[in-house]
This record gives sequence, C-alpha cells and structure tokens, in this order.
Amino acid sequence: MDKACYALLLALALCILSGCQSTNHQSRGQEVSTASESRYDSMSEEASLADASSQDNSIPSQNPLFLSQEYLPEYDMQNDIQRFEWFCETPLLDYFIPGDGFLWYYDKSVGKLGKLCPRPECTHDDNTCNAFLPGSFKGGGLCYYDGLLYYLSDIQTKDIMKKQQLYCGLYSLSLDGTQRNYVQDVNFSTNGFNGFFRLHRGYIYHGVINTIVAGGESQTRIIIRRQILGDSSAEAEILFEKKVEPNRGCDFFFQISGTTMYLLIEEHLITEDILQYEDLEACTIDLRDNVCKPVGSYHLEDGCLTTDMHEYDGVIYIARYNPFESLADLTAESINMVTGDWNRICTVPNKYGVYPLIGKGIVTGIGVRSETSDAERMIVIADHNGNILSELPVAMTEPQRSNREIMTNSIVKYTTNEVLILLYGEVSGVPTKETIRLSEALLSCISIFNQNGNWDSRIITP
Ligand SMILES: [Zn+2]
Repeated sequence: MDKACYALLLALALCILSGCQSTNHQSRGQEVSTASESRYDSMSEEASLADASSQDNSIPSQNPLFLSQEYLPEYDMQNDIQRFEWFCETPLLDYFIPGDGFLWYYDKSVGKLGKLCPRPECTHDDNTCNAFLPGSFKGGGLCYYDGLLYYLSDIQTKDIMKKQQLYCGLYSLSLDGTQRNYVQDVNFSTNGFNGFFRLHRGYIYHGVINTIVAGGESQTRIIIRRQILGDSSAEAEILFEKKVEPNRGCDFFFQISGTTMYLLIEEHLITEDILQYEDLEACTIDLRDNVCKPVGSYHLEDGCLTTDMHEYDGVIYIARYNPFESLADLTAESINMVTGDWNRICTVPNKYGVYPLIGKGIVTGIGVRSETSDAERMIVIADHNGNILSELPVAMTEPQRSNREIMTNSIVKYTTNEVLILLYGEVSGVPTKETIRLSEALLSCISIFNQNGNWDSRIITP
C-alpha cells in the first residue's frame, strides 16, 4: 500500500476512534477543492423541522407507478454506481463531479470527456465557468431524476445561518448545465461523515453518521431519513436510527430496488491497530409502510472491514478489505435477504492495497504506485461467484507515466456489460491547489471493460 493511502487509512482509524465529526470517509482525496471546514462543528443537531406547514401534497409512496417492482429508469436509484462517487448516468451522457468543483460529462457514444460548459472562450478553470458548482458538496451523490441532475450543497440554504448546520440545499441542473435551481432544504446534517444521498420514486433518501451532544455527552449515531422531493414543507421521516457504542467505529450501506430498501449496518472495534471484530446487521425496509425487518446478524473476526455493498436480485454483495494488512486478500460475501444465508463468495488478490469495489461483479487492483513499473498496473475483475474474469493493465496517459503518478481508485460503475473507470491522479496525500490542478490535468483517461475482458480504453484530452 502506498504511503498516502496508508496515512489516510490511519487517519481514518484515528478519526473513527476519536469520534471525528466532519471528515468524510471517502478516502479518495477528491473532495478537496471546494470543501471548507465546517463552521458549525460545535453545534449539536436538533431533530425536527421548524417550518412544516399544512400544504397538501400527494404522497409518492402511494403513487401507483411507484408501487411497481420493475426498474423505472427515470425515477429509480442507480444502484450500479459506487457509493461515494458523484456520478450518474442519463440516457445520453454520464455526469460526474470528481471533487474539483466542476461538473464533468462523458459522452460514451463518441468518447468525449469534458467539463459541462458550452462557452468556447471559457478556460474552464475558475468560478466563471458554467461547469463550476459553488459550495461544498455533501451527501456522496449526484443523481439523475426525471430529466434533471440533482446534488446537495452546504451553501445558500434558503433560511438563516443556523439552518446551515442542519440542512443542505438541494439543487437541480438541466442536462446541458445551463439551468441551475435551488429546489429545497434537506434535513441532512453537514456535521457528520459518510453522508450518502439518493433520489428514488419521489423521495430524497439520505443517511449520515453524526454525533449529537446531549447532556454534555456526545453520542454517535447512524441516521437514515427520507423527505418528499419538491415539497419543502414536508417533514423528514426517520427510516432508521441507531446509536453506536462508545469507541466503536461504524458505517452503513443502503440500496433501493422497487419498494424495498436493503440496509447493512456495520460496527467494529479497533484497539492498538488491530481490528478486533466487525459486526454486520442486515435488514430490509418496506418503503410502502416503512417497516424494518431484520434479516440477520453476523459477527466476523477475520480482520476485514466492509467497504461497499451492492444489491442484485434480492441478494446483497459485500466487498471487504483488511485495513491493517495492505496486501491481504480482499473478500467478497453475499447475504440472501430473504433467508439471511451468508456466503463467502471468494477472496480476490489485492495486489495494490486498494479498496475492493463491487457492482455486478467484483473489481479490485487499480493502484498505481510510483515505485512500481508500468507492467504491474493492473485491474482484476471477478464475477459474483468469484471467478476471475480479467487481469488487465490500466491505461495511462503520458503525463501519468512520466510522473509515475499515484492513481486513486475510481471504478464508478460495474454493470452487466461494462466496468466504467475514471482515473484520478494525485501527487501526495495532501490536497493542495497545485495537486488539484494536476489532478484535473490527469483526469484524461476513461476506460471501459466489457465482461469478457475486452479492454476499450480511451485516452482523452478534455
Ligand atoms: Zn467553462
């Protein structure tokens, strides 16, 4: 494992142990350019919305269309996207925010990548660019919903300053990037970590791990809520809430298919750089009545931590890695969400000390360390049964080669047909403006595998 990555993991472990509140767990070094320190760290969160009115709105969960168990591409959560990627797919283009504060697009049909700005005279490198999105992005998500893009920002919430700690502003963007609109405040605390948000069938779903201060004591909790999209007067409903034992680290993962949320709650204990155990709890929530049904609890002492989860056909697939042994094998597990049966699918070699990623299969191996040779820059793809499909070299641009660049991971989507990869470069683990500029310059390679292992790599100059 490269030093930057290890330092990040160590910082993460310390962060979890110390109850750090405002650090995002993303570990990519991408959320850098526009992020500012929370000005509200010392404030505690309050639970309720203040200005609910009696405005009458239809309830999305009762909309007959939204009771379908079929996938509705205009309205459903895109489950193939990696948890922390600001990435979404639309009928024509893929869109993403790599952490540089700009909205990028990728046109797969012609292989064109760029910032979403139509002005030819623009240099696309400052806040006058159409593609520049002001604010600090929150909630680990860029969502496509019914013809628009949506994202959360911590600025310009419509109400007073104190609300900014309790609320984010939800913004919509037209697909050409020219129309940006404030939609509503979302009861999503900026004072937390592992924030995650998605849109699904008329609702904004969001989860976060945060710390509330009550009676002079801090209490860490996982909280998942939903709010009606487009109805700023509707109260957020709490779908799931769990207080975490003091000194325990925690995480959560959810995906939504049809009318069911698949939820995995993680708790672990680290003492003296040893992961003592990981506890996982799986449950489903019926989104028609919000009833939570436990599926199973799993106590693990194999030294691995869960990094991502993917639901497919009523089974959740779980990717795990060892945070203290950088080259230990990665493991993939599955839980049948009806029977609760647990299966270890496979172990996948972790040649580069990076996180495993899971979609409609298992991917690992993007890790380009400055001391390694080009020939070692590989990606490993396995199917859900653990059969390794491909071990293929990662395409590099010439600047990446000559700088012997550390590439941060970014496999953002693993569907039945393809693995979509964005590569980001970074000079060190410390994000600086210079690093950001260099990263932008190096964001010039997008690669697609199909599942047969054919490598359709495109080197693109934005
Ligand atoms: Zn521009």
